[in-house]
Amino acid sequence: MKKIAVLLLLLSIFLTSCGNVAPKKTEIFAMDTFMQLQVWGDETLLSEATARIYELESAFSVTRENSELFLLNQKGRGALSAHGTSLLSQAIVLSERSEGAFDPTVYPFVRAWGFTEQTQGVPSSKTLDALFPFVGTEHVHANENTVTLDEGTMLDFGGIAKGYAAQSCAELLQDAQAALLVLGGNIQTVGTKPDGSDWNIGIADPKNSSQAIAKLRFQGSMAVVTSGGYERFFEENGKQYHHILDPKTGYPVQNELASVTVLAQNGVLADAFSTALFVMGLEKASEFWRASDDFEVVFILNDGSIFATEGAASLLYDCEFTVIER
Ligand code: ADP
Ligand code: MG
Repeated sequence: MKKIAVLLLLLSIFLTSCGNVAPKKTEIFAMDTFMQLQVWGDETLLSEATARIYELESAFSVTRENSELFLLNQKGRGALSAHGTSLLSQAIVLSERSEGAFDPTVYPFVRAWGFTEQTQGVPSSKTLDALFPFVGTEHVHANENTVTLDEGTMLDFGGIAKGYAAQSCAELLQDAQAALLVLGGNIQTVGTKPDGSDWNIGIADPKNSSQAIAKLRFQGSMAVVTSGGYERFFEENGKQYHHILDPKTGYPVQNELASVTVLAQNGVLADAFSTALFVMGLEKASEFWRASDDFEVVFILNDGSIFATEGAASLLYDCEFTVIER
């Protein structure tokens, strides 16, 4: 009897450790988008991750009147939390690396178009021209956790906050067996699922975002971040205007790209560069990738064709694509 009991116990341990254990899931609305979090293993970490996202949302919102970012933008000077300080310093480094294609000081333009306001509309070129002197990371002066902004300069973490949240949660979830975070267009995988199967990540079809135009499969932790003009836009006089702006012109980016998906170990970098590469366009973005070694890219063009850098190409399936070589 004793032997059978021990055998049953061992069998149940074996089954729970290698069986296809279901993850614990939750869905929330935060940072202006729907999010789904799944955790395998230590399920208490799920509520910690959710709490972290809400904490970061209330720190980084540009519109909430008591967020640290709102207060800094209002007063032109202020102290940031440890998260705020870390995010700002990373944002500045990534902005400089992308030669300003990603720029956290683009907020005066974002506001002029109304993207963070109740109503959107095309601003006059005179309005935009008047804002150029305020845009550029040279107007941000950070000294440890205290930040001073030149007059008129304002910060917007909209192009990087979800990446920071995903990265921060991934660190918090290191001790879970595995996790999958879908924060709008930001996907973060952590570890390997109990059954050892690959992560399967779809890249949204820009023309019909509920469907995948391409799929990626891989093992282990990765940030997969998509930026596209199809995600947020308004129409005026029959023309569409979307929310990713070229900081050098103040206008929504218009080039051959419909979306850019960046794969990287670092979620903050993946988020900043998905926006930056979208601004750069296919050719400049490909050159930028050739000069880098810490991310891979899938480009979806307006005509539906797909271009993938070598490292991304090896993970793509269920689609035709052109490989971008080093
Ligand atoms: P999403 O937040 O929809 O996933 P992105 O990561 O590309 O998409 O971020 C777009 C947001 O970032 C915009 O809504 C705006 O707040 C801000 N933004 C727009 N253009 C830029 C830019 N060139 N650099 C940095 N932030 C930008
Ligand atoms: Mg981004």
